[in-house]
Amino acid sequence: MPMFVDTSPPGQCIFCRLVAGEIPSAKVYEDALTIAFMDIGQVTPGHVLVATRRHAATLLDATPEEAAAAMQTAHRVALAVRAAFDPPGLMLLQANGALGGQTVAHFHMHVVPRHEADGIAFTWPRKEPPAAVLAGYAERLRAALQSGTRD
Ligand SMILES: [Zn+2]
Repeated sequence: MPMFVDTSPPGQCIFCRLVAGEIPSAKVYEDALTIAFMDIGQVTPGHVLVATRRHAATLLDATPEEAAAAMQTAHRVALAVRAAFDPPGLMLLQANGALGGQTVAHFHMHVVPRHEADGIAFTWPRKEPPAAVLAGYAERLRAALQSGTRD
């Protein structure tokens, strides 16, 4: 995970200042709900961040419209990354909360071109629980979805 961590108060974070034009950025795209700009860390060439214009701390704070717009912008940027850099792989990464790996508390998504031996490390500790346990997890989520958890 990146070493940079922004500890600014909500609404005064580095991305809000960037959206407001108070700090410079290498912007590549913007629309009514989102903005896309080069990540200064550039894990690989062409690494872009897509953020909401409004300060929504995490995915859970974004409106459905903002979440959809962010994915549409990420899709658009991914097509541009393919055209401009032609990487053999591409990854979207969207982190929420410190334990989720989020380092700037303003909703954003990474569009990351991937290459063989690019140094990006990600572990995925599979657990493969019994089917009954999996069914229990699904039931909990179905109940939550039916009770309405949009806010
Ligand atoms: Zn912000």
